[in-house]
Amino acid sequence: MAITLKSDRELEQLRKAGRLVAKVLSQLKEYAKPGVSTGELDAIAAEMTRQAGAAALFKGVPCPYRNKPFPGVICASVNEQLVHGIPSEQVVLREGDILSVDFGVKLDGYCGDSAFTVGIGQIAPDRQRLLDVTRRMLEIAVQRIAPGVKWSAIAGEMEACCRQAGFAVVQEYVGHGIGTEMHEEPKVPNFVSRDLLKNDIVLKRGMVLAVEPMVNMGTNKVKTLSDGWTVITQDRKCSAHFEHTIAVIEGGSRVLTRLDDDEHDSNGQ
Ligand code: MG
Ligand code: MG
Repeated sequence: MAITLKSDRELEQLRKAGRLVAKVLSQLKEYAKPGVSTGELDAIAAEMTRQAGAAALFKGVPCPYRNKPFPGVICASVNEQLVHGIPSEQVVLREGDILSVDFGVKLDGYCGDSAFTVGIGQIAPDRQRLLDVTRRMLEIAVQRIAPGVKWSAIAGEMEACCRQAGFAVVQEYVGHGIGTEMHEEPKVPNFVSRDLLKNDIVLKRGMVLAVEPMVNMGTNKVKTLSDGWTVITQDRKCSAHFEHTIAVIEGGSRVLTRLDDDEHDSNGQ
């Protein structure tokens, strides 16, 4: 298993792709209101991607279960839907829903991948807490990533943050390396397993990881719907998902999928 290290020039390319992803997601966050369909959000993302001369990463991805490539530009997953929800004009957001949007592009040969979950209008306090905890887990990764750190140490902190809140980390889906391909080595779990401890990832300058905690309010068991894509929680309780593409740089991390430049010195707090 080879993890590629990116040069400074490549990191700049990845930053350009990441900034486009951030721009699209921030626009979608603005638009995600009661009465809006996930199909409308998809159309906005498609148009912005086209205008930027980029390619949408998810559209046309072959389905692992049957012959039905992913039809959307974004994944739009509502409430008990975890990931890979298919955007549609039929799915109209309602007050109190939570919506996860996952989006990626390839721009000039380099990829960016990011996701957020947002409340639609006013949401219940337990749903807000689910969002806060999942976002905090991603923030732990941003703060702790630095050369020389073992990924298991960071995954352990993320998992503890989740457990303390009484929520469950999803194990079926994990983060990944990213570069000229959307999915590169290594696999980046949000929990510590025997397998991770055996094959731990020691972070090195130039690694670029898409870190993406997925957290369920109830059981961590999930299943895929008969559309071949949409993954839901088995108990139909809510799930949240946040993701950033993050580079390991000298002394810390750099989030590539935020609008503003965002470097973190691991020596700071
Ligand atoms: Mg993603
Ligand atoms: Mg990803």
